[in-house]
Amino acid sequence: MRIGAHVDSTDPLGAATARDADTVQFFLTDPQAWKDPSPRADAEALRASDVDVYIHAPYRINVATLNNRIRIPSRKLLMSHAKGAADVGAKGLIVHGGHVDKVEDIATGFDNWRKAFEYAAKEGGFATPVLIENTAGGDNACARRFDALARLWDAIGDFEPGFCLDTCHAHAGGEDLLTAVDRIKAITGRIDLIHANDSKDDFDSGRDRHDNLGSGRIDPELVVAVVRAAGAPVVVETPGGVDGQAADITFLRDRVGR
Ligand SMILES: [Zn+2]
Repeated sequence: MRIGAHVDSTDPLGAATARDADTVQFFLTDPQAWKDPSPRADAEALRASDVDVYIHAPYRINVATLNNRIRIPSRKLLMSHAKGAADVGAKGLIVHGGHVDKVEDIATGFDNWRKAFEYAAKEGGFATPVLIENTAGGDNACARRFDALARLWDAIGDFEPGFCLDTCHAHAGGEDLLTAVDRIKAITGRIDLIHANDSKDDFDSGRDRHDNLGSGRIDPELVVAVVRAAGAPVVVETPGGVDGQAADITFLRDRVGR
């Protein structure tokens, strides 16, 4: 089982070594910025490395929204980050499922997702597989509740997108973790990556605050069960720097093996 962590973008390979990680995830730009990635000096080293690389897209991206001034740049930013991710040999580009505003019809959000994939296909396709991640909050989110996820996949399944399951987001989003993997696979047919995080908040709180495994409100053995059932690579997005994340990686490895 490949297990690693979300790390700072300055020196991802150094950060992987410090944590004894098999996988790393990082941002190519400030996650709050609307910015295309720049070429990285360590691109060749990242491509050649035994460490599996995943890139997290900026948080600003929301291809579902009805707001043109966010939706159109979001499509372009997703394309440019897929290209930047390919340059470093990434196996996937993780992007949040997005949402529409309270008063808006979520059906339009699903349709906008389809349009984002159509736009990408017209431009030659995403350079890196896009993995859509479930989110914790919002009443009009495309990938918080799995009934919405099913409708999203009805709209975009033909494009064969990937899926990233975040355990904190599922718990805080109000979805039972014990059955989550089976229910997601019934919808998407796949889980490409697990974000193994504990949650500081209660089930169905809608809040997105990650914690170290066993330190929050999720039974850590439930996270282990999800990792086992999914059989996908793992990234912990937990606090505590090298020590906190290395402990989370060790906790999982001790239970699921290497
Ligand atoms: Zn996540």
